[in-house]
Amino acid sequence: MPDGGMLSAAAGSLRYVGHSAFLSAKGLAIRQLRGGAAFRARLAELEESQWAPMAVKQAAQDARLRELVRHAYDNVPFYRRSFDRHGIRPEAIDGVEDLQRLPTLDKSEIRANPEDFVARGQSQRLIATGWTTGTTGAPLGVRRTLESIVYDKAILARQRRWAGIDIDDRNVAIWGTVWSNVIVPRAVRSPPYWRFNAADNQLLFSYYHLSDETLPLFVDKLRAFQPAYIEAFPSTMLAFARFLNRRGEVVPVRAVFTSSEPLYAGHRQEIEAAFATRIYDYYGHAERAVTAAECPHGRMHVNPEYGALEILQGDVPAPAGQSGEIIGTGLTNFGMPLIRYRTGDSTRAVTGPCPCGRETPLIGPVEGRAADFIRTPDGRLMPGDGVMEAFYGIDNVKESQVVQEAIDRIVVRLVKDETTAPVDDQRLRANLLRCLGPEMNVTVEYRQSIWEKAEMKKRWVVSKIGAGLDKIGGDA
Ligand SMILES: [Zn+2]
Repeated sequence: MPDGGMLSAAAGSLRYVGHSAFLSAKGLAIRQLRGGAAFRARLAELEESQWAPMAVKQAAQDARLRELVRHAYDNVPFYRRSFDRHGIRPEAIDGVEDLQRLPTLDKSEIRANPEDFVARGQSQRLIATGWTTGTTGAPLGVRRTLESIVYDKAILARQRRWAGIDIDDRNVAIWGTVWSNVIVPRAVRSPPYWRFNAADNQLLFSYYHLSDETLPLFVDKLRAFQPAYIEAFPSTMLAFARFLNRRGEVVPVRAVFTSSEPLYAGHRQEIEAAFATRIYDYYGHAERAVTAAECPHGRMHVNPEYGALEILQGDVPAPAGQSGEIIGTGLTNFGMPLIRYRTGDSTRAVTGPCPCGRETPLIGPVEGRAADFIRTPDGRLMPGDGVMEAFYGIDNVKESQVVQEAIDRIVVRLVKDETTAPVDDQRLRANLLRCLGPEMNVTVEYRQSIWEKAEMKKRWVVSKIGAGLDKIGGDA
């Protein structure tokens, strides 16, 4: 045993050094791609534009929208046909006020023929695919230009600065994969369960390795690393916060950045107490049509440079202050333009002004897709969104939901789309087993519909066994 232990420790440290070097090299390549002169210019521009009066921002947004609509009509087959069919001339769209004259765009229309949305002459500039299963669990890839990726990075950096965080500050990011690479291979069953990305001064924690047993190791590492900030899903932060709060311990950081899942008020309090700081939540989606970022005053500012946001009830604008669906028109990705895209998320408009002085539209909390934790037979506690990557490249799915029926049993509910092509459910099962471990039984169930009640629609991963978050980390 001791020899085995030493060997596995040595192997573990080799793995750590080798894989950290690999991730750092990849991080550096991506940082150079995104972090060059274009990024700095964009960030400087955004730093300035945030203080412009609303009327100036509105004029800039209108001008950008006119450019986008003209470009889409001239170069994107879908919009050419759609505008012609509706008798819309691009020059009739003078600004955001006129958006209502255009039809909204449903995800199913993109899924039916994604190539139809790619602008002519841009395909070689489309370097990455944003990936999501969205609110209804239908897999979708949206291709993006380098410019739009740089823009995204700059918008995020601007919010970091609102929190007093600069680009090179030490940070911990808790994810499963980065740049399509797992942070720590799933088969690894001994620490360390983190890797260092030197390019971004970033310690990457693998949430695929989070369990009652490993949580204390993660917390020790966090304490030793002393990051300026942490970025993660709200659910993952909550697991850490409950562990700390149960012990009456605090790990102070300067800021916590959350995104991608609903952040509930009670959870926010628990997380802010455990880390003695404020959470800066961020709203975005893989399709990248609109984004919003929370400022130091806790208000959610729509980023007007990034996209135009509408709130609709059905096809008409929601009455002031009432909740409706978020419709986004992206102003940064001319490679695959999304005009009046139905996100499936909902929110309401909030009246300003915000004491921070930034004049932008404000929104309330976003109700998007939620996902319960999945507990695996080998004791891991995985954020539900962690299984999203299993759906990567799985076509012909209209809706999906992942249900944990028992500690060792997952049922995937699928609604097929209208095409006759089959769903590659063998591949989906194999992908899921890779995430969840071979002890899990995964069955795929085809249905006509998934949600009996509309309110269930937003829960993509449902745990029937309870994640046991209250007990995480054992007794205090
Ligand atoms: Zn503000």
